[in-house]
Amino acid sequence: MKFATFSYNGSLHVGLVDAAADTVRPLPGVGDMVDLIARYAEIKETFPSGGSGIAVRDVKLLAPIPKPDRNIFCVGKNYGEHAREFAGSGFEAGAVKGAEIDEYPAVFSKGFNTVVGPYDDVQLHSHITSSVDYEVELTIVIGKAGRDIAKADAWKHIFGYTIVNDVTARDRQKNHKQWFLGKNLDTFCPMGPWIVTSDELDAENLTVKSWVNGEPRQNANSSDLIFDIPTLVSTISQGLALEPGDLIATGTPAGVGLGFKPPKFLKAGDVVAMEISGIGRIENKFV
Ligand code: MG
Repeated sequence: MKFATFSYNGSLHVGLVDAAADTVRPLPGVGDMVDLIARYAEIKETFPSGGSGIAVRDVKLLAPIPKPDRNIFCVGKNYGEHAREFAGSGFEAGAVKGAEIDEYPAVFSKGFNTVVGPYDDVQLHSHITSSVDYEVELTIVIGKAGRDIAKADAWKHIFGYTIVNDVTARDRQKNHKQWFLGKNLDTFCPMGPWIVTSDELDAENLTVKSWVNGEPRQNANSSDLIFDIPTLVSTISQGLALEPGDLIATGTPAGVGLGFKPPKFLKAGDVVAMEISGIGRIENKFV
């Protein structure tokens, strides 16, 4: 199933999406997306099975979790080709002993101030950066709480998946020698268009693509992740309890702007589109 957060006639709803019919049906009695995720097993049988929905074009889709309870966990350099383009770009400041491929996953986070909807504008913040870049990422949505989760149990803790653009100011990422400042500018995390439940997808075989102004940029498959989904859930949950609604962006494939010579950073008016098979599409203008 696909669940969206949207506004319609001035109020906020969580709804069940029918992607084929291009409609969304509000779910009565659901507070917000995290409430839905936390109570999913108990309430899923109560969802209305019939009735007409609202046309998706008539609602405003928000990020599925518009204000996460805490930072979004993100994984760096998790596709081999991207790790190599990053190492060769001159923007890498955090390589351990010069390694292109890390021995352990590199994990950082993005605050809730970064989150915007799947079709919202993204600010370029051109007074402080001139190297804003895009990163399409398959993003895990945690369903069941857990700490010290074993790899073999990781799938049971996943509710579903969404798309995140891990927007990055490369100069700040490089100059400050860590990833927080370059990744945490307001509006730097477009998310959506909705969450697809894990039973609908083979998360280890999804095409992950992006375009800038219609020009293809990234095109990979989630089967190419260096650290796979169970490894990420297990690693992040060591000594740190994951909660329903927590998000883990799994890293981006090759084809980001810094990988080109010279780099192709984003300019005002650029439109970045991203698609992951089985999930959907997000599209954001940079302003
Ligand atoms: Mg990233």
